[in-house]
Amino acid sequence: MTVTRPVAGVGPVAGVLRDDPSEGISSTIAYKYDLVGASTAELGVLQAEAVALLRELIRIDTSNPPGHETPAARLLARYLEDNGVECELVSRDPARANLVARVPGRRSEAPSLMLLGHTDVVPAQPERWRRPPFAGELDDEGYVWGRGALDMKNEVATRAVATAVIARSGEPLDGDLVFVTVADEEDGTTGVGMSWLVHERPDMATAYVLNEGAGERLELADGRAVVTISVGEKAAAAVRITALGTPGHTSMPYDVVHAVPVLAQLIERLTRYRPRRRLLPATRALLEQLVGPIDEVDAALGQATALHPALKQLLEPLFSTTIAPTRLHGSDALNVLPGRASVDCDCRLLPGSTVDQLCEELELALGTDLPYELEVLDAPVGGTISSTDSALFHACADFLHATDPDAILLPTLCTGFTDSHYLRAAFGSVAYGFWPSFSTPYEVWSSTVHGHNERVHVDDLAHATAFQIAVCRALLKQTGP
Ligand SMILES: [Zn+2]
Repeated sequence: MTVTRPVAGVGPVAGVLRDDPSEGISSTIAYKYDLVGASTAELGVLQAEAVALLRELIRIDTSNPPGHETPAARLLARYLEDNGVECELVSRDPARANLVARVPGRRSEAPSLMLLGHTDVVPAQPERWRRPPFAGELDDEGYVWGRGALDMKNEVATRAVATAVIARSGEPLDGDLVFVTVADEEDGTTGVGMSWLVHERPDMATAYVLNEGAGERLELADGRAVVTISVGEKAAAAVRITALGTPGHTSMPYDVVHAVPVLAQLIERLTRYRPRRRLLPATRALLEQLVGPIDEVDAALGQATALHPALKQLLEPLFSTTIAPTRLHGSDALNVLPGRASVDCDCRLLPGSTVDQLCEELELALGTDLPYELEVLDAPVGGTISSTDSALFHACADFLHATDPDAILLPTLCTGFTDSHYLRAAFGSVAYGFWPSFSTPYEVWSSTVHGHNERVHVDDLAHATAFQIAVCRALLKQTGP
């Protein structure tokens, strides 16, 4: 690997880290990359490049809404074009461009790989942060601060650097390497991001996709370490539950069934209800990897979640529907007892679950003694899973084995929703969420993504960049020179 070019188009790297870029890597991490063919000095250059690009990306405020992701897509396009990568901005709304870039392979039938990311971020409240969220500051401990530092401008920056390295090295690829960033992942309601792009640009289909969703390293109570990889996700559906009552004047509120107190009881029932747990082949395998053969799902889940505090959060939603009451609507006027009052619920379903099954669960939760109506606002979207029996999974496992031999790669499902679903559904791609990290503690991930003080350690930027270069080579250069 020859990596000597300065970063073009993203400002000077000098000053980002110390003069010798290899000093940015701790020695305990650096030696491991000998195993994947990168020297400490080379990794230092890559790290400095990823750090500089990430800091520039953070300085472009892409808070969604309104997003305005086009300047971020342009920055990435400039950087990649300077490294010899063909780029195209593809937009339905000119202010919200997606980027499709390609390093073409030599054989059209060879497996292809997409490195995917979103450029929008959720909004930040600067007054609650210890450092400004859109300044891209680098602190003395090696953390880059800012909204998107973990979700997911970090991933975007390292994927762009990996793509640039492959392109400028001139090494021949068999399959295409496609780098894509999309707008509007966080809000996802405007139809300008991946939900639109898969129909607009079917030519971007690849056999394999690396996206966001997992990669945290957890040290378990029994001494093992696991690194998560997300191979699928739940589906999202929206329902409205409307409590029914008799409208009237607020000056005479007693002895009348009006809708708001009924709604309060219904919400209480939803909150207390725990939908029935069940195992899918993917979640059975996940539990078995953690606790061995399973007799009974509740007991096995209890054992598994005792292994790490994070596992309670990450695993519990993967065995049943979740129902989260969020938006409320009651009376339009202070002095009117409403005849109808409603709550909208964000429901997350296991892959393969139907609307009828969701409605049955809700009816069980709500009981039969209170008057209400149930309406499905949005049918389930998502709920796809990729097989772990794939060249991409093996490439991820091989990298982990080379760099962190004691850790186990743990396939899991994402409790939320990612753009991987659109690619699985439209193209049948094998898509995983994986950005391996071990220097940014799990507590920082869990408390700052979508929260305050989001930040990422620069060693993880080097680690993830090395990972993506290794995977590109493993998947795209299988047939030799
Ligand atoms: Zn994200």
